[in-house]
Amino acid sequence: MDAARKVPFNDFTGSNKSADVDVVARVLSSGRLILGDQVRNFEAAWASRCGVAAAVGVGNGLDAIEIGLRALGIGPGDEVITTPMTAVATILGVMRAGATPVLADIDPATGLLDPQSAERCISSATRAVLLVHLYGQVRQMDRWISFCSANDLLLLEDCAQAHDAVDTGKVAGSWGAFGAYSFYPTKNLGAAGDAGALVTSIQSVADAARSLRNYGQSNRYEHTIFGLNSRLDEVQAAILMERLSSLTDETSKRRTIASAYRAGIQNSAVTLLAEPLEPENHVNHLFVLRSMQRDALQAHLRNFGVETLIHYPIPAHAQGPLASLKRDPQGLLASETHARTCLSIPCAPHLTGEDVNYVIDAINRFAPE
Ligand SMILES: *Cc1c(COP(=O)(O)O)cnc(C)c1O
Repeated sequence: MDAARKVPFNDFTGSNKSADVDVVARVLSSGRLILGDQVRNFEAAWASRCGVAAAVGVGNGLDAIEIGLRALGIGPGDEVITTPMTAVATILGVMRAGATPVLADIDPATGLLDPQSAERCISSATRAVLLVHLYGQVRQMDRWISFCSANDLLLLEDCAQAHDAVDTGKVAGSWGAFGAYSFYPTKNLGAAGDAGALVTSIQSVADAARSLRNYGQSNRYEHTIFGLNSRLDEVQAAILMERLSSLTDETSKRRTIASAYRAGIQNSAVTLLAEPLEPENHVNHLFVLRSMQRDALQAHLRNFGVETLIHYPIPAHAQGPLASLKRDPQGLLASETHARTCLSIPCAPHLTGEDVNYVIDAINRFAPE
């Protein structure tokens, strides 16, 4: 093994720098910095990419969730079923809309919400299920569509990790009343800072979201609802538009890396999550292993120069300020176990084939006590 090799989890140092600088220069010299053509163009491109009627550019993924819920009139007194195994922003978005998150457990094979647990979380106050397409996976969406219609609930999607994930010909964000996207720099489509979007085919939701992101303004200086300031800006929109042209290539690189990991990783102390049912279901935002000796495995890989992260080490209900959240009466054991055993290994487009083989070799050499 090449002891000097370093495999970083992400690497933005070389990413399209000169193209980005050109884009920024063009926007700056246009003189228009907020809510202009760049945002309109990106919104049109992203809506079409997702197969929905409208995309509304907002400041980040958390705001997209809050704005989407408020646009649907979901707020105080309403419950939203979601997962504790997610970025805390999912839960905060629900809480900022004034609604009550109710946590259902995950399926340990995938890390995705478990329908049986979700069923136990339904009460007379439940309005919606907010699915998180964790790690880039959409899976059996028809099941969730039936679940929601049988229980008279809205389906909502946190798509922050699932850009371009497809199931039965439809794209993440197109099943729900809305899909919330983040373009945080580490996401599969990342801006050069914070950025997000809400996608929807419901015209009234798109209209309300456009107003909410801009102080609740309907006409200039006329504010018909309490809004916030969460506008995608022109510079980020232009950068996203430019980077969108590489997304297909980058997703296929991620899939190639994930296939190599599936074929190459062979260690009895390590298990993989379930394979996607169809390759298009998974955009491999993250490649996640599980091991009962997770911390030792992480230290072993660090010694080999392989950077790993944990998504997520603390489930939402174990975060101090969220400790009293409502949850499945049978508990959230699968989420707690996952938090103790999961490990994300590098799976981004900057990796070379040699890096991937090196990571596989390092994992296969792990021999716990
Ligand atoms: C990144 C992420 C968010 C939050 O997006 P921000 O743009 O950072 O606010 C929400 N949900 C999930 C699942 C995420 O991965």
